[in-house]
Order: sequence, then C-alpha cells, then structure tokens
Amino acid sequence: MEVNAIEIQNVCKTYGKVEAVTDLSFTVKKSHCFGLLGPNGAGKSTTMKMLYAKAKRNCGNINILGFDPSKNELEIKYISGIVPQDDNLDTELTVVQNLIIYSKFYGMEKKEALKKIDYLLDFMELKEKSNSTIRQLSGGMKRRLVIARALINSPQLLILDEPTTGLDPQVRHLIWDKIRMLKKEGVTIVLTTHYMEEAFQICDDLIMMNKGKKVLQGRPQELITSNIEKFVLEIINVDSFQSINIEESIIRKEASGNRVYLYSNQLIALEDLSKKLNTGDFYLRQSNLEDVFLKMTGRGLNE
Ligand code: ADP
Repeated sequence: MEVNAIEIQNVCKTYGKVEAVTDLSFTVKKSHCFGLLGPNGAGKSTTMKMLYAKAKRNCGNINILGFDPSKNELEIKYISGIVPQDDNLDTELTVVQNLIIYSKFYGMEKKEALKKIDYLLDFMELKEKSNSTIRQLSGGMKRRLVIARALINSPQLLILDEPTTGLDPQVRHLIWDKIRMLKKEGVTIVLTTHYMEEAFQICDDLIMMNKGKKVLQGRPQELITSNIEKFVLEIINVDSFQSINIEESIIRKEASGNRVYLYSNQLIALEDLSKKLNTGDFYLRQSNLEDVFLKMTGRGLNE
C-alpha cells in the first residue's frame, strides 16, 4: 500500500503584501521523488522552507511523516536531510571534518559517525577527497559533499533545493543515479529544479507553480501527453517562415523572441511545412516537459 509522507492542504504564506504561496495543496508518497517546478519567484523555495520549518505558514495544514513543522521543528530536523541552494560548507575544514561536525548535531558516537562517513563518501564517490579541504574541491564535489552531509542522519525525507544547478552533465547524471538509489532504499525526496530534463528523469510526480499557485500536477510523461501537442516544429530563422501559411485548425503557433514554435499532433503536417524551409532553419522534434512548462507559465520573464 502506498502511504503519504507529506500532506499539504490549503497552505499560504505572505511576506508583507507579497503572497509568496497561495492555497497550495499536494501530497507526496513515501519513497517517491516529488518535484517543485516554476519560474523565479513562483514560491518554490518558500514552500520548501515551510516543509522544514524555516518559514512559518499563514494558513493551511502541513503533515510531514506525522509531524507539523509549526509545532515539531526538531522532530522534522531529526528525520530529514536538507540540501540548500548554497554549498554552506566550512571552507577551513576538510571533507571528513565537515561531516564530523554534522554528526555531532545528531549526537552520533564518534565510532558510529566515522563508519557512516566512510560509507557516505564512498556512496557519493568522494572517498579520495576525504582529507582535502573544501577549497580544494570542484563545484560538483562540494555539491556531492552537501548531499552526503544531508544523509548523515539516515533521513527518511531528503529535501533538495536545485541540487544540480550549475553542474556539468557528468555530475548531474551521477546525482540523478544516487537519488534513484536513495528512493529504492525508501527515502522520500522533494526537490526544486529549473531543469525540465532533471524533473523528467527522476521525479515520479511534480507540480508546476506560477506566482505562488499550483498550475499543474502529475507524472512527467502524463503531463506531456495531456497538456501539449505531440510534436513541435521550431523555426530558427523566422525570415524564412514569413511567407508560409499554416493551417491553424491543426497547428498551434507560439512565438518567442526570434523563434516560432508550431505545435501539432499531426507529424505529417509539420513535415510538409518543414519541406518549404531550408535545412538549418528549423528543428522538428517531439514535445517535452519544457514545452508544457512554457505553455503553462508563459515565455515572458517573471521579473
Ligand atoms: P522561487 O523559489 O520559486 O524563486 P520564492 O519562494 O523564493 O520563489 O519567492 C516567492 C515570492 O516571495 C517572491 O515574490 C519573493 O520575492 C518573495 N519572498 C521570498 N522570500 C522572501 C522574504 N524572506 N521576504 C520577502 N519576500 C520574500
């Protein structure tokens, strides 16, 4: 039987006159990876902070594995691991020393802590760096260390705020693999991300937020199937497109900057159009989660 790890009902949060989160409800199943997606300012970080009691909600209910963040802050800290956006490591200390300090917050015996640290450095493929100082680590190594640190207390819930932002593809794939392994071990994962590919690869379920509100929820593939046409013809050189007529009953047009996106369920209609364009002026592909995201949250900047 699938059990909920997190239940959020009608939650809201205001900062002065700013409604950062409005009437938000969702549930996260145990051992699932749940994603929060949305443009900047959508309310993702505020939602995460309300989960681990760093921000106090103004209304609604939150249940995290039986605890309420507004009453049980310590209990929630005890059962969860947090990976913040910034790698807030102690740069003067070594890798192992950073982890030992954390183990002390959880009252772990030194012997038990060293065993766990050894395991976690192996798990995050950082063992060779055990005695390096933080200054000697690359961005990808620091991120892996922050994840290892969040796992020191064997958390039931792992909260990751943009875990792979700014990292190269190799590290990103390694982190995705580790997240999949943690899920298999029964850890529930909540993450925010700007990378649609990341959400598609690792999230079982996700919500898209915009301006503090939930605009969509579902499994990544289902969201694509039910919210966007199957194919898109991206016109890179708009000049080459000016004189071409499109059949609006079967093709939907979106424009952004100097690109035009033509969406349709009928591949043949897009292929016929592409034949009127020069090679290199277009790109024909299947629609993806990014197309859904841009349709739901708009192509304009949220600034
Ligand atoms: P996201 O993580 O999706 O970028 P945030 O949750 O950080 O969005 O922000 C949502 C809204 O709340 C934004 O308008 C932001 O300016 C505002 N906000 C966030 N944190 C604070 C704060 N500590 N004080 C005032 N306003 C805030």
